[in-house]
Amino acid sequence: MKVRCPDGSEVSADECIECSKCYPKPIIKMLLAGRNRKRKKRAKPRYGVTRLVGGCLRKTYYDLTEEVVFPLEKMWIFNRGTAIHEFVQKDMPKEDIEIFMEKSFSTFGVIGFVDAIHAGAMYEFKTTANIPDTPQEAHTLQAQAYYSMLPEDKQARVKEILIIYFSMSKIRVYKVVPRNVLPMLEAKGTILTNAIKLGVAPRMEESYICRYCDHKDICHGQKPATYDPNKVDEEPIPEPKNIPKPVEVKPKSSGLNPFFK
Ligand code: SF4
Repeated sequence: MKVRCPDGSEVSADECIECSKCYPKPIIKMLLAGRNRKRKKRAKPRYGVTRLVGGCLRKTYYDLTEEVVFPLEKMWIFNRGTAIHEFVQKDMPKEDIEIFMEKSFSTFGVIGFVDAIHAGAMYEFKTTANIPDTPQEAHTLQAQAYYSMLPEDKQARVKEILIIYFSMSKIRVYKVVPRNVLPMLEAKGTILTNAIKLGVAPRMEESYICRYCDHKDICHGQKPATYDPNKVDEEPIPEPKNIPKPVEVKPKSSGLNPFFK
């Protein structure tokens, strides 16, 4: 991972920690904790759930194949979110929080951490500057994906899925319908795996996300992509014609959360 210093120079995470001119070393270390970890090589790719539900697979493709330089100041936004998560989770039993889950498909795997499953509710926590009037689609799909990936016995214990937004001054709770979105994860993961294998970006999915996208120049052909998949000597994975719609599962509880909006 590369870091952009406030003076505009670009360095590796290790070089940034070593330099520590912008902020004292403990602050830099806190900002970059875990960011200089090397990725393991795996027999088949694994994607975090957020990679597949983010609204533009082409952006995910570039996130995975192009080098992204993170402004050092942006790292505070990530870490502040983590700190709020830990604060909110602190009174829940350890076994109820940060639950790792993995789902294997034929050519790739999907992994994720559920923020908490506690007393019959699955929780997804989001920190944000402005709380949206309705839950963002990507957040809803993310929570539904975690629900879909749960083993049956654990799924049966989830009576409701709650997305909770935290801004600096407000908290708002939304209830989400439990749905099986595994077919959608499989379809999107297959498209992404094929694209990476072939070095051909998936189609554009233009939306408000484009405004914040780090890859606009490459996406619009104003800057060349650097990724080279070398020679592909395996058969490409067949791409599904249509991305299936998520299958709705009846909520197991009709009781509304008192905070539900
Ligand atoms: S600019 Fe828009 S369409 Fe292009 S990769 Fe980014 S989010 Fe996707």
